[in-house]
Amino acid sequence: MPKSKIDPFKFIVWGARGSIPSPGPDTIKYGGNTSCLEVRCGKEIIIFDAGTGIRNLGTKLLKEMPFHATILLSHAHWDHIQGFPFFLPAYMPGNTFDFYGEEQLEVEEVLKRQMISPTFPITLDEMESEFSFYDLKVRGEIKIGEAQIVYDRLNHPGNVTTFRVNYKGKSMVYATDTEHFSCLDPTLLKLAHKTDILIYDAQYTDDEYSGKDGMPRTAWGHSTWNKAVEMAQAAKVKTLILWHHDPYHEDTKIDSIEKQAQKEFKESYAAYEGMEIDLI
Ligand SMILES: [Zn+2]
Ligand SMILES: [Zn+2]
Repeated sequence: MPKSKIDPFKFIVWGARGSIPSPGPDTIKYGGNTSCLEVRCGKEIIIFDAGTGIRNLGTKLLKEMPFHATILLSHAHWDHIQGFPFFLPAYMPGNTFDFYGEEQLEVEEVLKRQMISPTFPITLDEMESEFSFYDLKVRGEIKIGEAQIVYDRLNHPGNVTTFRVNYKGKSMVYATDTEHFSCLDPTLLKLAHKTDILIYDAQYTDDEYSGKDGMPRTAWGHSTWNKAVEMAQAAKVKTLILWHHDPYHEDTKIDSIEKQAQKEFKESYAAYEGMEIDLI
């Protein structure tokens, strides 16, 4: 049996869209679900964000019950939490979940507040799995099984946490929802240094960001594929995954962004639902 089957370090994309779900015939290839990334480190199930992609992940995980998973929330904007009320394993007794988010987020309160009348008919307390909530500081590290998670805060309205997973000599960085500065963000540059995979918020093109194409998107909290490439080169990463696709970007637009990025940094790929990468 290949080593990866016994002791995997891999990730699967369940939602790579930014801001709001965008289903339809023009987004079939990359998908319309919002942020959710499943990571497996050995027996550990680690879920980054609970956007609408977590609904389909839940359907898959029903076959592995009872199970334990860790849910790391980058921040609490809708597109990163709104799938959780539809995550079926959380309703099942026997499953256990550890939630982590930056202290100021008050993760438990945030999840409770999105599940109250009149906007939702079931409360968080009515979900029958066992939940534990843990606060993260601005920066630090935690252990999940044998995986080391190093995290820090990046630039986004209300702040956002970025995570690096180190496992068995390989690594990946999940840097969603971050806006670059006039220079490359030194915090991310350090965290992503020589990582195998950098998943980076590449919501806009340079022209969209500056306002040459439509209204300026400066100070909206997101970055561009051009800055993604610059970061990947400067941090000497092996593979760049373009993430948090703009809801107005159709498949053909994302195809073109991926092609342009590959001209600058060969190992660049636009994330799509179902994308699965084995790191070991
Ligand atoms: Zn977002
Ligand atoms: Zn956000």
